[in-house]
Amino acid sequence: MLYLDYAANTPVDPKVLESFTKLSTEYIANPNAAHTLGKAAKDKLDDYTAEIALLLEVKPSEIIYTSGATESNNLAIIGACHYYKRYGKHIITTYLEHSSVSSTATSLHNEGYEIEFVDILPNGEIDLEHLKSLLRSDTIMIALSEVDSELGARQPISKIRELLDSKYPHCLLHVDATQAIGKVKVPMEHVDLLTFSAHKFYGLNGCGVLIKKDKVMLEPIIHGGTSTTAFRSGTPTLALIGSLGEALKLAETTRETRYEYVSRLNDHLRKGLGAYKNVIINSPLEGSPYILNLSIIGIKAREVQERLAEREIYVATKSACCTLNSPSRPVYAITKDRKMALSTLRISLSHLTTEEEVKAFLVQLGQVLASF
Ligand code: PLP
Repeated sequence: MLYLDYAANTPVDPKVLESFTKLSTEYIANPNAAHTLGKAAKDKLDDYTAEIALLLEVKPSEIIYTSGATESNNLAIIGACHYYKRYGKHIITTYLEHSSVSSTATSLHNEGYEIEFVDILPNGEIDLEHLKSLLRSDTIMIALSEVDSELGARQPISKIRELLDSKYPHCLLHVDATQAIGKVKVPMEHVDLLTFSAHKFYGLNGCGVLIKKDKVMLEPIIHGGTSTTAFRSGTPTLALIGSLGEALKLAETTRETRYEYVSRLNDHLRKGLGAYKNVIINSPLEGSPYILNLSIIGIKAREVQERLAEREIYVATKSACCTLNSPSRPVYAITKDRKMALSTLRISLSHLTTEEEVKAFLVQLGQVLASF
């Protein structure tokens, strides 16, 4: 089996699973319970929150736990845009976004908010000049990803911050860092809101985070009690949160070595793919090395994906949430070519991927392409 779909989900690290099991069995009480067992669970939760805050360079009060990045993006965008609607209803986003950002923006559009899309340059970065021209006094939010899930393109977060500070300090910067946390250095000091999920860095499914800077306000979208925070109701799952903390510690303390290693794999893959005439690499060189997106000219990517899967090789055509046979919006945004956008494959790498696996993938892909 050759798994090259780590941007969709990662296998749980055994140490992370161990901490999940230990916390689930050792702490049986609800952290909100008033008795001593509840207090012990709450103290443990607070210890993890302090540790996660330290790793992310934020304050413990700025951490909100959720069920995953989808919920975090919904809460950040809907919650803040509802709260600040008296200042305006104009939101700027991009065509690179995951559906948990783009569909949330669409739902606000249906409520009467105005959504505009900033142009993307061929290297996958937003066009800052176009952004300048879109910003208005009633723009309340820019919502975009630090690393997008299809191309792995990175955005100039510090430049966007500079722009906002100089002219639009009231406009919030919301960053979806789901493909960035644990993989690249995230400029936490420049964001107002930021989201991610544990299952993208060897944690368990079902746990996410929203960083909300203390000065930012939100209207909650889930009602029913104020367990750890007034902004998200529901009993906090200590074992999931603790295991997210363990996964984050492992990812952050090894981030640079993993990055260098994966960059070498990415180089190798790019060089190997260069030998195939009908393959065009879409991912920008300056993007995240963890994601490599390509178009296969004249062949349906879906069929390539299926033939690879018959050989137990698993890659994505787009991000896992967009399985319909529609063109890739990010690839169209940078190429303006519908054919290229209809035939994309996404290969996503890990520090667990070996050189041998990359070599084997290149050989098998060559055979699959030749079979059409
Ligand atoms: N944002 C990005 C950039 C993603 O890649 C994903 C998942 O692929 C999400 C948000 C949604 O994450 P989750 O599946 O944890 O809700």
